[in-house]
Amino acid sequence: MTRLKLTNTLGGALEEFAPLDPSNVRMYSCGPTVYGPSHVGNFRAFLLGDLVSRYLRWSGYKVMWVMNITDVDDRIIRDLGEKGGTLDELTAPNIARFMADLGGLRIGPPDVLTRATEHIPEMAALIARLLANGHAYKTDDGSIYFRISSWPAYGTLARLEPGAARQTERVAADDYGKDDVRDFALWKGTKPGEPAWETEIGPGRPGWHIECSAMSMKQLGESFDIHTGGVDLIFPHHENEIAQSEAATGKKFVTTWLHNAHLQLSGQKMARRVGNIARPADVYEDGYTPVELRYALLATHYRAPLEWGDDTLDHARAALERLSTAVAALDAYEEDKADDPDLPAVLASARAAFALAMDDDLNVSGALAAVFELVRDLNRRVDVRSLSSADAQRAAAALRDLDSVLGVISVPDTLPDGAAALLEERAAARAAKEWAKSDELRDTLAAMGVAVEDTRDGQRWRVVGRVSDG
Ligand SMILES: [Zn+2]
Repeated sequence: MTRLKLTNTLGGALEEFAPLDPSNVRMYSCGPTVYGPSHVGNFRAFLLGDLVSRYLRWSGYKVMWVMNITDVDDRIIRDLGEKGGTLDELTAPNIARFMADLGGLRIGPPDVLTRATEHIPEMAALIARLLANGHAYKTDDGSIYFRISSWPAYGTLARLEPGAARQTERVAADDYGKDDVRDFALWKGTKPGEPAWETEIGPGRPGWHIECSAMSMKQLGESFDIHTGGVDLIFPHHENEIAQSEAATGKKFVTTWLHNAHLQLSGQKMARRVGNIARPADVYEDGYTPVELRYALLATHYRAPLEWGDDTLDHARAALERLSTAVAALDAYEEDKADDPDLPAVLASARAAFALAMDDDLNVSGALAAVFELVRDLNRRVDVRSLSSADAQRAAAALRDLDSVLGVISVPDTLPDGAAALLEERAAARAAKEWAKSDELRDTLAAMGVAVEDTRDGQRWRVVGRVSDG
């Protein structure tokens, strides 16, 4: 096990990570609200959950990672009112797109993806506990609110000044039944035209906050290790999750809260997009690959704001090209000679540097620096032919091992139809020193999306802009 330290939003300190059950780390990430497609900024948050779970697994922990899909909330209800149809009709295409985007970005998938509409009884049961112990009350319209004055710890996560919420929250017209303007809705009474469920606490629908408490506790227990989300969720969403969960159970809800900073779209290309919201599909339309987007979102420390400029994806592309080219070179490398005596130490120290950086609050820049230093060293050893064939395999495996945390190496193994024959033809042309023909074939292959490079180990090819599962 490593000595991982994480900055816990609860208290703000860098703390040594110590799971409640060392044999099973339990973590929850707030997932998408599927009233529309998720945008690039949302995926920065989902990637934080992915990075944490991958790193914990790489470090030797068993991990249970849960993410929710919010498929009923105020925004979805609002859209339903405008567009008509059923809840399912509105959310199904967005859920399908979200799942496709997760796959493209190599996020998880989480061990469990839970849907709010499939946990209404659990939400009602949790609210019933809060009604029973006096932390919640029902209003005339059948809505149920959490009584903030009953919970003195309210505001601890967001470090609110006492009374701050009172001044900043506006009173919505339909919230006049509340005892206190700060109180938040756990349950909303039935309204004409809105979906409603019959439950033990009466008919209605859940508020957004209770959804995450009910789903996370159902899957992970009343106390668990890590909860992730974007900084915009600290208040009120996560503050409310803590209040309602701990008021119901009397137990500490979550040990470590991790929040990623915002993504700031400042580049011209991105700013052009409506409302500054770019979807992954927009990025791919501009010619970038999912794994380039993944790298661009991961390469900045999660707590630092990510300034997204026009060159962000180009930098990602260049870095990935270096990495994938090095792995491809090692894959192709053959040299019948004794093992390089320095290699084991080189690989071990790269691994140690990588872990040291990641243990330091997931310092991904430091971890990437360790990877690229190793790439430079290995490239040099390939150039001077100091490695044996077995060394090259060990070195490629070492890079892939570090990449099991990062998930960014793309060494495709599938050529487009007809490309294999052209590559063979080109190898024959080169053997016959027919340089013009070889150049012509290189151009033909390039047009098919296959980049060819000539090395001592023969021609090396890469499918440009395509990714493998590796
Ligand atoms: Zn949530």
